[in-house]
Amino acid sequence: MAQPQTQRDIAQTDVKEPSTVSSHSHSVELKHHEEFWFHDGNIVLITGDTGYRVYQGLLSSQSTVFQDMFSSSIARHDELYEGFPIVRLSDSPQDLAHFLRVLLPKSQRHLYRLQDGSPFSFDQIFAITRLAHKYGVEDLQKQALYILQEYHFTNDFDRFDDPSRFAVDHVVQVRNIQAIGVVNLARLTDTPTMLPIALYRCCGLGGKLLDGWRREDGEVEHLSTDDIKRCLDAREKLAQEAFTLIDHVFSLSRAEKCRSHYSCILKRYTILRRAVRSKSVGSWAVLDSWKDFIQTEVEKSKVSEEDPGLCPACAKELVKRDLEERRTLWNRLPDIFGIVVQGWATQDG
Ligand SMILES: [Zn+2]
Repeated sequence: MAQPQTQRDIAQTDVKEPSTVSSHSHSVELKHHEEFWFHDGNIVLITGDTGYRVYQGLLSSQSTVFQDMFSSSIARHDELYEGFPIVRLSDSPQDLAHFLRVLLPKSQRHLYRLQDGSPFSFDQIFAITRLAHKYGVEDLQKQALYILQEYHFTNDFDRFDDPSRFAVDHVVQVRNIQAIGVVNLARLTDTPTMLPIALYRCCGLGGKLLDGWRREDGEVEHLSTDDIKRCLDAREKLAQEAFTLIDHVFSLSRAEKCRSHYSCILKRYTILRRAVRSKSVGSWAVLDSWKDFIQTEVEKSKVSEEDPGLCPACAKELVKRDLEERRTLWNRLPDIFGIVVQGWATQDG
């Protein structure tokens, strides 16, 4: 399968070996990074024209990739800055800063995250995941992915359908365009459970799907061609599913405990007609709940003499069917996107 690539990935190899071009007394113009230039640091990381004077022991102890790079650089002694070994990296300065803020925290120490803690930006989580993967810091990669899975890209329908999860904006917000980044992280880290909802949200992008998502460092993240095809094909399937779902939810049979048979049949017919005319039908967003729509229709009937009412039993039945039908669709999401996700959808449906 084609792997997603960024312009930077295409232009540069993964981690550059230390340069072999210069002498022992090499002098380079460097901007000292304002957060990560420690006067007693013992190694200089360089990305672009920015230098980070940091502590090799601290980084080596957290990443065997850094450990190998530092050993190689020191052994070769081929490039120095003010007497300290240099290691050149291909990461953007923004990404590297996000990563170092976690590995060498100066102000973001966390023993326990308080409810009023400052939120993460998606760029921050994206950069930390990618670099933790690249430099082999597994526990950090796991934590960053957990944040995305717990709050947005879950494999649990009940979690997805719980409106209270939107009250967690203090943790991280993810716009639909950034779901492109989430798909690519799922591919990079082999975390397929994030894919169904990440691809589903990409279906809402329309033509922007091809433009890609511009990261804070200016690089543009694109889906692989295979994943773009998946979204385009699924968008059509999801729109068809919307019609089936609405038929199943609003079909005209009454609830078992219905108290007003004729008016409920009439009301259900009216609701069905309104639902079919609503913009949600034929849209890709089939997992959106009809609960508010149903409740609005019930409320309308209470204030209109011409609008027949729906009894509480029938209203409850519609809400129940809405939940069941969307759960069934949720269970089929991997099929709709043509992917296999182990452990997806263990609920009945
Ligand atoms: Zn009824």
